[in-house]
Amino acid sequence: MSNASDAAVREHFTRMFHRDPGVVVSAPGRVNLIGEHTDYNGGYVLPMAIPQRTWVAVSHGRDHQARAASRNLGGGDRIREFTVGGEVPTKSWIDYVQGVTQALRRDHHALRGFDLAIVSDVPLGSGLSSSAALEVAVLRGLRDLFGLELDDVRLAQLGQIAENDFVGAPVGVMDQMAASLADDRTALFLDTRTLRYEQVPLPPGGGLVVINSGVAHNHASGDYRTRRAECERAAAALGVPQLRDLGSADLPRVAALPDPLDRRARHVVTEDERVLESVAAMKAGDLRRLGELFAASHASQRDDFEVSVREIDLLVDLAHAEPGVFGARLTGGGFGGSIVALVEAAASAVIGERVARAYQERSGHTPTILVPQTHPGM
Ligand code: ADP
Ligand code: MG
Repeated sequence: MSNASDAAVREHFTRMFHRDPGVVVSAPGRVNLIGEHTDYNGGYVLPMAIPQRTWVAVSHGRDHQARAASRNLGGGDRIREFTVGGEVPTKSWIDYVQGVTQALRRDHHALRGFDLAIVSDVPLGSGLSSSAALEVAVLRGLRDLFGLELDDVRLAQLGQIAENDFVGAPVGVMDQMAASLADDRTALFLDTRTLRYEQVPLPPGGGLVVINSGVAHNHASGDYRTRRAECERAAAALGVPQLRDLGSADLPRVAALPDPLDRRARHVVTEDERVLESVAAMKAGDLRRLGELFAASHASQRDDFEVSVREIDLLVDLAHAEPGVFGARLTGGGFGGSIVALVEAAASAVIGERVARAYQERSGHTPTILVPQTHPGM
């Protein structure tokens, strides 16, 4: 992973554009603590930022010419160009920057040309949302450079619009909201229906371990669509617009649905309640309770929603066997991917290494420890 910092992105800017940058900003990647498969049901999520960040350095350019260089992609020393106001999709990373300028202009913000350098240590395409980190960092850079009037929620929405309309990825707004409003000690409790949110700090002494299993199933997107459709069918059968509109009082009605709709709906209804309970546990400083909710969430994803796989269950079991672990669960869409564990902060590095080593021995797959950041500055 590359060394990403204020100094590193200044240096990259100067190397590419032969002067000092005017503005330097950054935005983080994210991990969802709890609240899985609730977003498309109008429910609650609780993402938190990770230490890895995407840094952007930017200065005024000529006329409406935009030039951008990412140290992570395009060979690292290739400058990509486009005209602000004449954005054309290219199916490459520059589309994330073009998507942002197009979304800003459509939102009636006055933009001119600029030069932009990018340096990130958020792993690309690992489910930690490097795309939202990039969008939010670019938006912050342009907001500062052109003095745009843009609050942090609108900024997140414009990042989502860029990714939906220009890049063509039908993502929800959770990732951009987390990149814009969370940090690596503060989770974002977000109601995905109303976009009401609250920043909730991780209790003192609590830490996170995030480990990627090295397993990704290629039927994941098909199964994801199936789950979404099952949720819609369950909501229709129960006569509500979305599963979000049900609570624990409705669980007997949920249980009367035919299998598997009963279990799918039970996951979503109980997961929404677990998010609410998790927020309460965090406010009360109750790491033990928060860990129990992580474990219950995993069991629900495994048995009711059926989005886990053997390797992920193994990682979760290995984490639960470690002293200092309060609870662990699959994070992200599932069918592979990563786990997140709530741990004693002081032991997080040791726990990450022990779980990853045991997993490698038992599964034969190569895990990656994403949090804690193993080699800061590397
Ligand atoms: P994720 O968001 O989970 O990391 P995505 O597929 O949504 O995965 O986004 C990854 C894409 O975002 C990359 O392929 C690239 O096009 C773009 N991207 C993210 N970070 C950078 C970066 N630092 N420099 C250039 N492009 C980036
Ligand atoms: Mg993404």
